[in-house]
Amino acid sequence: MSEYVVAGCGIIGLYTTFHLLDRGIDPKKITVLAQHFPGDESINYASPYAGGDFSCITDDDPKTLFYDQYTYTNLKKIQKALGGPACGLDRYTSTEYWDIKPSKEKIDSLASYLDEYKVISPAKYPKGVQYGIQFKSWNFNCPYFLLNLKVYLENNGVKFEKTILTHITQAFISSHTKIIFNCTGLGSHSLGGVNDSNVYPTRGQVVVVKAPHITENVMRWGDDYATYIIKRPYSNDQLILGGYMQKDNWTADTFKDETEDIISRTTKLFPKIIDKNPNGDKLEILRVVAGLRPSRHGGVRIEKEVVGHNKFVVHNYGASGYGYQAGFGMAYDAVRLALINDTKF
Ligand SMILES: Cc1cc2nc3c(=O)[nH]c(=O)nc-3n(C[C@H](O)[C@H](O)[C@H](O)COP(=O)(O)OP(=O)(O)OC[C@H]3O[C@@H](n4cnc5c(N)ncnc54)[C@H](O)[C@@H]3O)c2cc1C
Repeated sequence: MSEYVVAGCGIIGLYTTFHLLDRGIDPKKITVLAQHFPGDESINYASPYAGGDFSCITDDDPKTLFYDQYTYTNLKKIQKALGGPACGLDRYTSTEYWDIKPSKEKIDSLASYLDEYKVISPAKYPKGVQYGIQFKSWNFNCPYFLLNLKVYLENNGVKFEKTILTHITQAFISSHTKIIFNCTGLGSHSLGGVNDSNVYPTRGQVVVVKAPHITENVMRWGDDYATYIIKRPYSNDQLILGGYMQKDNWTADTFKDETEDIISRTTKLFPKIIDKNPNGDKLEILRVVAGLRPSRHGGVRIEKEVVGHNKFVVHNYGASGYGYQAGFGMAYDAVRLALINDTKF
């Protein structure tokens, strides 16, 4: 009796399902279908490879600003539902620098809701930086958080089924199914019935090192580069070093020159990584991985499509490099659209 089917089990599909429960939908009426579930790894599954924290990576249009703010201010609720910070969602201080000052809209928005927000004095900026802020961020242990979110939803009665869809309408799994949420990320590029040619990957390579001495995030946003250091909570001291934003690059390969460049940029930005390293100047590299951010020309697609009598597809994809930090706001919008004509809600 699945009235609601969520296609995709990345962070966007899981946030959407969590939000359906928030709106009072009976979990037993929800099925999540996907090729990959938490615990799986594939270049076609972006969510396990995210850094991941709440940062200032996003654009400054009003919708994106809202998605960020909604997610930031509601993560506490998800953390509590999942049993507290040990679910893989904790808070650390972030320092962010820009080579070009962000827009007034962006700064005003961030200043209005970020906890412990302060503007850094220009005297402390690294060379070439025009603006800097510090605030209390949200940090995700992405693979572990995904797993815990799925377990929480399952324990509440949501069904999960492994399926490869070749056409989005295959997600109408019973005559009772009335709404499909399309949360297939990069899959929307080739999925029948969607075939969105605006969807493209933004490849990123990251280096995971062991760094018990680092308990904060630092990042620098340039015109054509992004350098970031992200503390991974409840991970036995992992630190994520990045990165790259390579548009329309589909490769899952990792490259030694990129690893060296990432280590060089991150240790220059935050020398403490080496200076206070318990093993001296040799960093312990645990893993090097590449992931594909599901980007979209024109930004995220959150749209309700009529596909039959009382049958709808609500698209919710294109989260690019900000699925964790903006995705709960996207889920709010998608669920709002889905339930808009439903008199029960
Ligand atoms: C290196 C890197 C660093 C990042 N850092 C951050 C960060 O710090 N903060 C942040 O907020 N975000 C970050 N991101 C971005 C974040 O990872 C993505 O925005 C997010 O994972 C997208 O989630 P999604 O659910 O849309 O897609 P995905 O995680 O790719 O999930 C797609 C789902 O759809 C399923 N699917 C697709 N096609 C089909 C099909 N045909 N049939 C069945 N199932 C299908 C897949 O199996 C999967 O379950 C980062 C990403 C990368 C790569």
